[in-house]
Amino acid sequence: MIQIRTFYFNDLRECTYVLWDDTNECVIVDPGCNTGSERERMVKFIEITGLVPVKLLNTHGHFDHVMGNAFVERKWKLKTHIHPLDKPQLMRAAAYSEMFGYNVEQPTSDTVDINEGDIIEFGKSKLKVIWTPGHTRGGVVFYAPEEKPPFIIAGDSLFAGSVGRTDLPGGDYDELMDSLHNKILKLEGDCKIYPGHGPQTTIKNELESNPYLK
Ligand SMILES: [Zn+2]
Ligand SMILES: [Zn+2]
Repeated sequence: MIQIRTFYFNDLRECTYVLWDDTNECVIVDPGCNTGSERERMVKFIEITGLVPVKLLNTHGHFDHVMGNAFVERKWKLKTHIHPLDKPQLMRAAAYSEMFGYNVEQPTSDTVDINEGDIIEFGKSKLKVIWTPGHTRGGVVFYAPEEKPPFIIAGDSLFAGSVGRTDLPGGDYDELMDSLHNKILKLEGDCKIYPGHGPQTTIKNELESNPYLK
């Protein structure tokens, strides 16, 4: 069984997720920790729980989701796993954040490509990569179909009561709607959604009440 810890990091209250199972191997998804105290909070949690980080995963390359990448890469000697179409975003992370007044350490270019259908393994657990362009060109969600209930780490594609912005570089409204209706919303109704910002929800909740999906 996969356990999940949520951290809300940086001014955009981005959701960073640590996922682990009973082997204690864990993956860190979208480390948005940018300040020393944010990083300390995550490190302390990982150390006290006795977890061993084995992979760094990104749902997409926006700066609020990668602010802590360089730190995580260095601290646990991990490589960033990201869709190749979002690697350009990742490579501009430091420059882009500077325009918004943030000082972000540039993550390395030594990344691992992840693509539609790939299986990411840690411990005894598996996450399936679903490519969901629209918010960014190389956005993905990480899907755990074998969990009870199943869940996705959704990045900024789908939120409780809202959907991802498509007005940023790489965004495309029609593509996002296609990803939502033909991929994400086709998952089980009880599938839990862990979004890139805000509270958790389920596919069923969003189908019933999300005004952007009508
Ligand atoms: Zn984003
Ligand atoms: Zn975001």
